[in-house]
Amino acid sequence: MPFSLAKPSLYGMSPEQLAEFLQQGGFPTFRAKQVLEWMYRKRVASFEEMSNLPKPMIEWLRNEATLSPNEVLLTKKASDITEKLLLKGEDGALIETVLIRYPQMGVGSESSRKTICVSSQVGCAYGCKFCASGLAGWKRNLTDSEIVSQFLHVARLEAERDPSPSKQSVPFDNIVFMGMGEPLANYDNVVSAIRTLNAEWGLHFGARRITISTSGLVPQIRKLANEPIQFRLALSLHGASNAVREKIMPVNKRYPLEELIPAVAEFSKKRGRMLTLEFILIEEVNDSYDQARKLAHIANELHAHVNLIPYNRVEGLPWKRPNIKRQQAFSKILKEAGVSHTVRKEKGHDIDAACGQLRLRHEES
Ligand code: SF4
Repeated sequence: MPFSLAKPSLYGMSPEQLAEFLQQGGFPTFRAKQVLEWMYRKRVASFEEMSNLPKPMIEWLRNEATLSPNEVLLTKKASDITEKLLLKGEDGALIETVLIRYPQMGVGSESSRKTICVSSQVGCAYGCKFCASGLAGWKRNLTDSEIVSQFLHVARLEAERDPSPSKQSVPFDNIVFMGMGEPLANYDNVVSAIRTLNAEWGLHFGARRITISTSGLVPQIRKLANEPIQFRLALSLHGASNAVREKIMPVNKRYPLEELIPAVAEFSKKRGRMLTLEFILIEEVNDSYDQARKLAHIANELHAHVNLIPYNRVEGLPWKRPNIKRQQAFSKILKEAGVSHTVRKEKGHDIDAACGQLRLRHEES
């Protein structure tokens, strides 16, 4: 049976749904606008803080609804610039949200660009071999309100640290759906959450700064190409031939490259240059010159940017990160083929930032 919250969360409601919900309690529809202001502009953590609402209404909301359907269990800060939040759902399910601060050249870390990386499911059924999220299997989808709530928790945390008035604006620059779970396997709730993030009545966050990362679910990628909101897509490729990709990503057996690439090409054609290919470089698994040439071919066909990510060790796996010379040689082949690419420096290595590890450790303990 699909998971449902004990009481509806207001974070999962559009203005129309919220107005209708309030009417059930006998409250006028104009109150919906006020409640939305408290939720997404002032970003309060409780109904009690909504000070322009009548007391009976606050009492009714407290009995009939929830605001955040999950709570922050712990935050863990790395010596570098990554911070992780472990959140607990009503049923005790644990998920992770990560805040990454990329310092800008010549400015202090306060002025850094902030990316928030959110989870879309509890666990994951896709079992990519480099990822800890899949190790304990899939438990359930997150509701749209549980997804939206992750942003609100981070925003409040940031506001506590720096309560200057300008903090009315959203305190992060980019949103990536790269945390625990395959976002496109929870399609409706992820798209609904993105609507709330993007809407003027919601967090009013620019869709072009929102990236959905997928392991490559072909039917959902085709569907996504027709969504009205202009978010970006990142494809976890990690292998430029079926034989290599299958070793890393079991999903490739279901959706091999000859089906996946045309679906992504369709997305790319409809959306313009909104596509990134993620490629984790693993020694003697996918770092050969042949893989680099094949990757260059795919990237050129899709007009995609490539993110090369030197592998981060995951406990229990034998794979290694290629040495710098090998990384450079791979990158040189892409460069010579005219492929726009970056070699990413992993953040938060020392706080279990490979997705799912913090949760796994916590569950074990
Ligand atoms: S990388 Fe994403 S899709 Fe693959 S197992 Fe991890 S969470 Fe699931």
